[in-house]
Amino acid sequence: LTPVPSDIAIASAQKPKDVGELANEIGLLPSEVNLYGKKKAKVSLSVLERLKDKANGKYVVVTGITPTPLGEGKSTTTIGLAQAIGAHLKKNIFACVRQPSQGPTFGIKGGAAGGGYSQVIPMDEFNLHLTGDIHAITAANNLLAAAIDARMFHESTQKNKALYSRLVPSKKGVRQFSDIQIRRLEKLGILERDPNRLTPDEVSRFARLDIDPDTITWQRVIDTNDRFLRKITVGQSVTEKGKERSTQFDITVASEVMAVLALTTSVEDMRERLGKMVVATDRAGNPVTCDDIGATGALTVLMRDAIQPNLMQTLEGTPVFVHAGPFANIAHGNSSILADMIALKLTGQDGFVVTEAGFGADIGMEKFFNIKCRRSGLIPSAVVLVATVRAIKMHGGGPTVVAGMPLAKEYSEENLELLEAGFSNPRKQIENARFFGVPVVFALNKFATDSDAEIELALRLARESGAIDAVCASHWSHGGAGAVDLAKAVVKATESPSTFQFLYQLDLPIKEKIEIIAQKIYGADGIELLPEAAEKVELYTRQGFSGLPICMAKTHLSLSHKPELKGAPIGFVLPIRDIRASVGAGFLYPLVGTMSTMPGLPTRPCFYDIDLDPLTMEVKGLF
Ligand code: ADP
Repeated sequence: LTPVPSDIAIASAQKPKDVGELANEIGLLPSEVNLYGKKKAKVSLSVLERLKDKANGKYVVVTGITPTPLGEGKSTTTIGLAQAIGAHLKKNIFACVRQPSQGPTFGIKGGAAGGGYSQVIPMDEFNLHLTGDIHAITAANNLLAAAIDARMFHESTQKNKALYSRLVPSKKGVRQFSDIQIRRLEKLGILERDPNRLTPDEVSRFARLDIDPDTITWQRVIDTNDRFLRKITVGQSVTEKGKERSTQFDITVASEVMAVLALTTSVEDMRERLGKMVVATDRAGNPVTCDDIGATGALTVLMRDAIQPNLMQTLEGTPVFVHAGPFANIAHGNSSILADMIALKLTGQDGFVVTEAGFGADIGMEKFFNIKCRRSGLIPSAVVLVATVRAIKMHGGGPTVVAGMPLAKEYSEENLELLEAGFSNPRKQIENARFFGVPVVFALNKFATDSDAEIELALRLARESGAIDAVCASHWSHGGAGAVDLAKAVVKATESPSTFQFLYQLDLPIKEKIEIIAQKIYGADGIELLPEAAEKVELYTRQGFSGLPICMAKTHLSLSHKPELKGAPIGFVLPIRDIRASVGAGFLYPLVGTMSTMPGLPTRPCFYDIDLDPLTMEVKGLF
């Protein structure tokens, strides 16, 4: 329809096919599908075993230029492209996307189901609780948080001091201990007394952890934008005997449990990673882990269902996995490896899996390759770099957007100079993708205000910058039919053999790995390690974590560390303020400036528009 109706109006007008029928169409057995009503299902990981000898489909990642407040449409393009490949080119296809946090859905950004005629449906269920994975993460994360405080409390009381240093040999026979547990046992002198006769449970219950409260990095989480939880005090009740401490809440998607879910490859692997999560340091300087707290098994139980990808569909009935949604700054911002692995098996040799990486190519795509693909071993076949004429113009010096004010005329009228000036950004992002040896298709997401001359110029500049092809697509207003040319270009791009390579090797020193990302991907002259960061380099190297990949926590609004610098800035030195470790998820994250892990609500939040129709039970106002 013209004009294009609202996202929720389009989404509600299309009745999704029964998800059981969809599952059957894509070759899942009834025993592999766990229905959550008629429109959503969880898919068992056992598919991977059944299809282990089948060849994978082609693996395509959708990324974007450096984001602007005008939006680029990466999710919309991921879904539009999947609709075009599946419903129009009639090839096996899967789109794999992230589950959005409810924080932004009710806050400022809105949902993330795509938009216009390229959406995942039912979009209200997609944007709200889905099948409860984020709630499960909240539960797992907060159980561990409660366990840490309770453990410190119990260890500190007079009666328990004796208990925690007492040793009770087990009669249950030989048990396997993790390295960290062995080190702790050694320290406690337990090793000499045959530690294999202690159960892990006994280690957890009787080995004194002696956590230094000032070093606790594990926070409580909630999936709401709640700025007043950025700093809190816990333990104020008299029953906690003065054990007060200052801490904070993060948004759930920033929890390391979410990053573990996104990067895990099996239940066993998830359990191991949850156990390795470092929550604090003891007074002797050793890392204290979830294993040490004794909570790994319980966390794994809470995550039992969450580990299964969620099957949904696009407006045109093609399959979608919605699974995991780690924060794109302090984590890697990509949907789950497991969803991609299952989708690649289900689509098979002649099929395609399109997945989306958050933020711009300098962040989401770089982490997709260096962290996610490295972990999964999956080889990507093509990159789709999404841009809009309006956003490129902003990179060329177009006026900033003021919320609630009409858009400046630079964005609604033809302006080839701004477009050409702003192309420095897509040019750099195309180069970034090519560093990894993967062909890049430039996708111009068409807005109604784009002129023919602007479209032509953008496509020409993209080809001159090294894109293997450049296509304008109108999937937002026309659905899959509007992205058929893009789909053909992507299919063609995947035909050349992959020359995929990582940007850095893991065995390089931490500083060198950060330098490579800063210089090659961001265009920096170099990096400056501030004192806290330098100390962490030394600490993590000593603790044996220096071989982890790097997950930069940098603003997504510029290739540099300064959000106001658009285009492709040069002549800057990237300051590294601090470095943190997500040992369970498996990366180190250097902080470039301060990163908020708890967003706030704006003065005009999205929730003002959201309501329920009591007669139809339909949700209104989501976008
Ligand atoms: P990203 O994934 O890059 O954050 P989205 O795909 O979520 O961007 O799109 C952001 C918003 O822009 C959505 O509300 C979507 O409906 C809208 N949008 C995307 N493409 C277009 C377009 N071509 N014309 C108009 N609105 C669009």
